[in-house]
Amino acid sequence: MGWCELCGCFSDPFNPIERHHVYGGNGKRKLSEKYHMVAHICARCHRGTKGVHNDRETDLRLKRRYQHIFEETHTREEFMAIFGRNYLTEEES
Ligand SMILES: [Zn+2]
Ligand SMILES: [Zn+2]
Repeated sequence: MGWCELCGCFSDPFNPIERHHVYGGNGKRKLSEKYHMVAHICARCHRGTKGVHNDRETDLRLKRRYQHIFEETHTREEFMAIFGRNYLTEEES
C-alpha cells in the first residue's frame, strides 16, 4: 500500500497515501469497510482539485473500478442491494 491506486505514484511525506471509502456517502462508509471497498490513494488524488472528493469524474472512475472488483465475487444484484445503485453502464459491464 505504498503507492496510489489512481496515479501510481509512491507515497512521500508531501503526498502521503491515504485510505478512502469508495462508497462513503449516505451511511455507506461502514459497508465500504465491510466489503473492502477502501482504496489507497495519494493525498492529491484524494483531496486535490482533481481528487475523488472534488472531481466527479475521478470519483466515478474509482467507483466503477471497485464495482468491477466486487462483481468478480458477487452479482450485480448484490452490489445494487448493498450500495444502492449501479455505476457501470451496460457497455462497460
Ligand atoms: Zn495519486
Ligand atoms: Zn476519502
